[in-house]
Amino acid sequence: MDDAQYQALLSPWKYSSGHLGRVLILGLGKSGKAAFRYCKNLLGTRVDAILVAGGASCEDSLAFAAENAAEGVEFFFDSYDIVGSWDLCIASPGIPQFSDFYDAAAMASRELISEVEFAWRESTPSSRWIAITGTNGKSTTTALTAHILRSAGKAACAVGNIGDTCIDAVAQGRTDIYVAEVSSYQLASTTYFAPDVAVLLNITPDHLEWHKSHEEYVKAKMKIFNCLSLIPQSCAILNASDEGVWQAVNYLNAKTPEKDGFARVILGDFSGLDKRFEGATQTAYLRDKNMCFQAADQEFDFGSIDELRIKGMHNVVNALAAGISAVLQGVSAAEVAAALKTFEPLEHRIEPCGSVGGVACYNDSKATNSDSTLKALEAFGAGKTVVLLGGYDKGTDLTALVRGVEKSCKVAVCFGAAGPRFLEAFGAASVASFGAKNLKDAFDVALKQADFGDVILLSPACASFDEFENFEHRGRAFKELVADEARKRGA
Ligand code: ADP
Repeated sequence: MDDAQYQALLSPWKYSSGHLGRVLILGLGKSGKAAFRYCKNLLGTRVDAILVAGGASCEDSLAFAAENAAEGVEFFFDSYDIVGSWDLCIASPGIPQFSDFYDAAAMASRELISEVEFAWRESTPSSRWIAITGTNGKSTTTALTAHILRSAGKAACAVGNIGDTCIDAVAQGRTDIYVAEVSSYQLASTTYFAPDVAVLLNITPDHLEWHKSHEEYVKAKMKIFNCLSLIPQSCAILNASDEGVWQAVNYLNAKTPEKDGFARVILGDFSGLDKRFEGATQTAYLRDKNMCFQAADQEFDFGSIDELRIKGMHNVVNALAAGISAVLQGVSAAEVAAALKTFEPLEHRIEPCGSVGGVACYNDSKATNSDSTLKALEAFGAGKTVVLLGGYDKGTDLTALVRGVEKSCKVAVCFGAAGPRFLEAFGAASVASFGAKNLKDAFDVALKQADFGDVILLSPACASFDEFENFEHRGRAFKELVADEARKRGA
């Protein structure tokens, strides 16, 4: 299919140079500002007027409004009614779907979409989109996919939550392949978003405050597949070893049988006995330790899992998903294998951060829920991990976490606001547990408990706001504690 045919198929959703009319920007966070900048450049040509409904004012948003005052542009803050009628509303992920503000914007607009769909519509017809979602693993898989593509000489960039906003990247127009990390918030407000490749890594309960229920969260995630059948040779990559995704596979099979829709690649549970493979024409799996992708008529071998620098079986899933996405864009198995060997863990994701007295330390501050902590624990051998758990307490059930820690850890140190509740949950567990006031105390306790050859892992299963600004701040603080201690002992 050539570009003209592709464009004809996707019109009228991909506007390209269509008239946008009166545009409402809902929310003035990073993506709202980027959407605004893009639309402001089109004022007087494709855009007739812009209203920014910025929500609660703050110093930064008021300064942005002052800098961007212009004819045809209006900003308002601290009011949640929308005045006038609008052709297109671009909603920021910060505004929950079930809020009065969002409802008012939807009522006042002919159409409401998220910034990712807007960017996709505005991208050139020849551009390709790989969209990656899941409760955990989005950033790693997005960065890894872009790394493989670029290593193979393709013009690709990671966009969305990681890197530039989608619309900023489209405005720059320097790439052929957009690898987009897409959150459930962005997906909830999509209508015709149709990536060429859609990856669903896992679905476990999260973000209930925003979506109001797990069902709505799942519904939003599933929207990544809604329009795949509009795109020639599109493909869904589904990690069926995750129970939430497996349910999604069943749903998809019932809704869009493969013969009428799009291809699916099913990642299995790596046991080699997975009956979930039944019926799938394209699968990915481990043969011995090699990561393999069986396409319709060809097997691709991405090399051994021992050569990955990212640890754990969850990262094997991420590597397979990234490798397959790259193969679908014309990258060879050998190029994928070479690029997988050089990809370093992202900061704060099981990131090696030095050792103290023969104890290796890892910063997994990004693990803000039990599921991601459990995945990190599996990445280390049983019985030698001293894990630091705690922080801002989300109040989630701790049964599975306690069981996982019992199975794989030597010691649990529970710190911060969640510390007492976590410690209580470990009361009857068969693993040693200690309480600590804050991260620094927790690290001191961990150092006393760890022996030569052990691992200290910060993988807190909690948000960080009780002690830190965000998970990055917490991760950096941990790395400083490790570096200070290593320096002291070296001296
Ligand atoms: P996200 O962008 O979705 O938050 P990240 O790549 O930043 O994902 O990883 C966040 C956490 O999730 C990490 O701490 C990691 O241990 C865990 N994780 C990464 N990939 C997966 C996966 N495929 N399945 C489950 N957990 C994962």
